[in-house]
Amino acid sequence: MTIGIHRPTRLVIDQAAIYHNIATEKSRLKPGVALFQVVKANGYGHGITQVARIAEQAGANGFCVAILDEALTLREAGFNQPILVLGITDPQYADLMASNHISATVGSIGWLEAADGYLNKGHQLSVHIALDTGMGRIGFQAPEELNKAVQYLDQKRGFNFEGIFTHFAQADSADTTYFQLQLKRWKAFMAVLPARPKYVHVSNSATSLWHDACNDNMIRYGVAAYGLNPSGGELATPFPLKPAMSLKTQMMFVKKLPRGDSVSYGSTYTAGEDQWVATLSIGYADGYERRLQGFHVLVNGEFCEIIGRICMDQMMIRLPHQYPVGTVVTLVGEDHGKTISLQDIADYCDTIHYEIACGFTQRLKRTYAN
Ligand SMILES: *Cc1c(COP(=O)(O)O)cnc(C)c1O
Repeated sequence: MTIGIHRPTRLVIDQAAIYHNIATEKSRLKPGVALFQVVKANGYGHGITQVARIAEQAGANGFCVAILDEALTLREAGFNQPILVLGITDPQYADLMASNHISATVGSIGWLEAADGYLNKGHQLSVHIALDTGMGRIGFQAPEELNKAVQYLDQKRGFNFEGIFTHFAQADSADTTYFQLQLKRWKAFMAVLPARPKYVHVSNSATSLWHDACNDNMIRYGVAAYGLNPSGGELATPFPLKPAMSLKTQMMFVKKLPRGDSVSYGSTYTAGEDQWVATLSIGYADGYERRLQGFHVLVNGEFCEIIGRICMDQMMIRLPHQYPVGTVVTLVGEDHGKTISLQDIADYCDTIHYEIACGFTQRLKRTYAN
């Protein structure tokens, strides 16, 4: 996608904030616990290679991604750390993964058998066994199956049994009933395991922040690195997270809208009196959700309403008075002591901040501050 560099709209990433969020969590971990930074989905919209670089400096020991291509992006950028692909990769790419030292997630013996057929002689694929303890997404569902898989891996030279893990569905909630159920199932799986692999891991951000007793020796640290509370606002984080993403633009057109005139498609907004209106160069094609009509942005420390429908590439805001073209507008972040957070946007859109952050499209130019 073409990146918009000749317009004033910028997704600004605070590198020091990401560093703080990772280094602080790392310092809370028991000695010997590895932190793998999750950088899937373009680093939750923050830029995969840039985030990986900061994470490396902040003490991350490896990376997790969702799909093989993201792992290859990191390798092409020169990262030598261990990388785990969290999703199931087509077994036909087993050799591509092995030759790039990328670890695969395994959820069935069938997958191992298929992958074995694709591995070239002398190549070894590192695998992490996924256990489904209640997420219902991927992984082995019964301890007997796990046993068979471990036996299979024992016989095959083509595989290195590097890790075992599970994923919690409700680690971010004050009610820990379901979390405890999953933990019990996890322990039942682990009880049949003859020997521990190098990495044993159950923790996403929420688990590591609120249930760190079960971290074992590696965590998959994701959203908290970006300064976002995994629970939304339900639970307080053990240390203050610093949000890393802000979104700014400048007014590209300013006019006086006469009383009775309407704004945007469907003419859903009509001026009740003469008013000043600014047009911004951002729209839903940038990932600024159309549902945000009626929400607000910040101009000079004041909230200004988004009026009329948000268009693909432009949107309009009502101003308290005339402002010159070029005036800075904050869509996410701080302005003169007031803030609009990704959580505020998510609340308005009835979703979670994860979806807003990774929904910002490539057309938005990312810039890196601090
Ligand atoms: C995305 C993901 C994570 C990271 O989760 P956060 O909530 O962002 O910390 C960890 N583990 C798995 C399996 C994931 O899919």
